[in-house]
Amino acid sequence: MMDIKSNIAAIRADFPILDTEVYKHPLVYLDNAATTQKPACVIRRIEEGYSRHNANVHRWVHFLSQVATEAHEAARQTVASFLNAASSSEIIFTRGTTEAVNLVAFSFGEKFVSAGNEIIVSEMEHHSNIVPWQLLCQRKGARLRVIPFDDRGDLDLSVYESLINEKTKLVAVAQVSNTLGTVNPVSEMIRTAHAHGVPVLIDGAQAVQHIKVDVRALDADFYVFSGHKIYGPAGVGVLYGKEKWLEQMPPYQGGGEMIARVSFEKTTFNELPYKFEAGTPDFIGSTALAEAIRYVENIGIENIHAYESGLLAYATQQLSQIEGLRIFGQSANKESVVSMQVDRIHPYDMGTLLDKLGIALRTGHHCAEPVMAHYGIDSTLRASFALYNTFEEVDALVAGIRKVKTLFE
Ligand code: PMP
Repeated sequence: MMDIKSNIAAIRADFPILDTEVYKHPLVYLDNAATTQKPACVIRRIEEGYSRHNANVHRWVHFLSQVATEAHEAARQTVASFLNAASSSEIIFTRGTTEAVNLVAFSFGEKFVSAGNEIIVSEMEHHSNIVPWQLLCQRKGARLRVIPFDDRGDLDLSVYESLINEKTKLVAVAQVSNTLGTVNPVSEMIRTAHAHGVPVLIDGAQAVQHIKVDVRALDADFYVFSGHKIYGPAGVGVLYGKEKWLEQMPPYQGGGEMIARVSFEKTTFNELPYKFEAGTPDFIGSTALAEAIRYVENIGIENIHAYESGLLAYATQQLSQIEGLRIFGQSANKESVVSMQVDRIHPYDMGTLLDKLGIALRTGHHCAEPVMAHYGIDSTLRASFALYNTFEEVDALVAGIRKVKTLFE
């Protein structure tokens, strides 16, 4: 088992940006839930892609096109193995989590949702797992139902069970909340939904980089994530869908690649996964994402999880000692995120002053305004950890907050 703590210097050396100085301070990057930094192997893969393998994919005639196509399809296979999908044809490349959710909301919604039906989401969802469902409900005259969470940040599963009925068409829920850090019991939630014949979409944007995901063990019907949050490039993401659903769903966008034959009288559609991939895909991004996944797998997701859990526990313990600091999200089952407020100091002021010390955090509503509404606040200061963060960086954060606090006093 690789001990990240004793190899942290070597791991940090893999990420060129971590050398950066900000206002003459070493960068302390704690905004990983927004996006992660990239290891050199991922950056190199992008450069090599454009300098050596660039040609449009699935146009087999010439050599470079074959090389590019094989690399893109190998990347799909890497993603399929990473999620333990039954087949790579269940892996659809999208622009990210947002596009993947929109694809399902549009296409599944088109086929299976009608007036009077219901979609269930949770109160702690990111806007990208709320708004596409609201738009669907508006289009179809359906209704959005919401699973509430308690003040600790745990979903109320008894309300969840009571919300499922014969009108329910789909449940969409985050595996890990980007604002509270809660790890939701998605396995149990999927079992409950399936007992009623209802499929489930899991938003894995904050999960795949921290915990082992096995879509078949979970029995998830749809699973979505973004490349840029798992050390890969922005602009590429993944929709996993069970073949039995994807086969029945209509295309999301029309264009090249997604067709079998086109005539003005009748167009037929390509097989999976191409039916859902209209236009030229980000075929360099997909291979860089595969590189990022290999990077994570080489270190070992269990090792990453163990190390990050240690960081989170240490940060929680140290931050809790600061008088007037309140942490939002205290679930016993948490990942890598600490959302907080300090006294009456507005998170924006705190974040701005911490930035002057080289500490990068996120402030605001984190695209989860219903979470803010739950607590009657408008924003939090959020620290979020990745595998390259250190215990010294946590100390720098704690010292930084204390310093800003004395400025305000
Ligand atoms: N869901 C969750 C839980 C997220 O944290 C995010 C990104 N903050 C998204 C969805 C949206 O991801 P993207 O912007 O990469 O599409």
